[in-house]
Amino acid sequence: MTAAVEIVRLSHAYRTRPVLKGISFDIAAGDFFIIIGPNGSGKTTLLKAMAGLLAPQGEIHLMGRPLEVYTRRALARRLAFVPQLITEDLPFTVREVVLMGRTPHMGLLGLEGPEDIAQTQAAMAFTGVGHLAHRKMDALSGGERQRVFIARAICQEPEIILLDEPTAALDLTHQARLMDLMERLKRERGVTVVMVSHDVNLAAMYADRLLLLKNGRIQALGPPGEVLTYDRIEETYGCRVLVDESPLGRFPRITLVPDKYAHPEKSGRS
Ligand code: ADP
Repeated sequence: MTAAVEIVRLSHAYRTRPVLKGISFDIAAGDFFIIIGPNGSGKTTLLKAMAGLLAPQGEIHLMGRPLEVYTRRALARRLAFVPQLITEDLPFTVREVVLMGRTPHMGLLGLEGPEDIAQTQAAMAFTGVGHLAHRKMDALSGGERQRVFIARAICQEPEIILLDEPTAALDLTHQARLMDLMERLKRERGVTVVMVSHDVNLAAMYADRLLLLKNGRIQALGPPGEVLTYDRIEETYGCRVLVDESPLGRFPRITLVPDKYAHPEKSGRS
């Protein structure tokens, strides 16, 4: 089976500063693939490269074809990218932003048809922003905005969806709902979900495979149980943790051990 994404010796530098250092890996079609790693390890850069937003060195293949052969429109029909929280003012309503996701499917005149309207409604309902349809984007909370951009991506009906820290602005309920939603897209529509996350516990719960990045290199790649070991987390993140099995299933649960608990005698705890 063709990999959804194939990365070969990918490198990228901002000016002279190397950020990705010759990494190679595949993402199988229909996988829930989560990229984790400390701040500055190159996660966002990697995701942007896959979305065709950078000009890195090396090769990126999407569904068996080099990324460069896709036109913007052809790429948008197959791949959707949800960047980190977008905070600039947008003079559009929620419905208008979500409908933009249909652009790559519309005819040359860009006129919306019944299918586009139905998809827009369904995506807004899916992400719980239907009641905000006529609200201006400027009048939304960070979490609501985030859900609108996710609705727009779903509207694109992509085969691959890339999400950069999509749960960052969400409360607990919406975090769980978003992760379940991505799980459903994967299960019911065979979508390949590629997500950057800083929440290792959410990542452990949902990922088929985890990529752990550090300083632009692959530290580990595999199922959560193999990647999230005690030694590797301490070495990569430089912090103390406890790792045990989650009460919810056969995947690891990571508990941060801050100084206060690692050295209780120093903080007055006994
Ligand atoms: P992560 O997502 O893992 O936090 P990033 O890919 O955002 O890492 O960034 C990796 C490194 O590249 C960081 O040190 C960051 O400061 C730097 N960087 C990111 N974007 C740019 C940019 N547009 N110009 C210059 N440096 C950048």
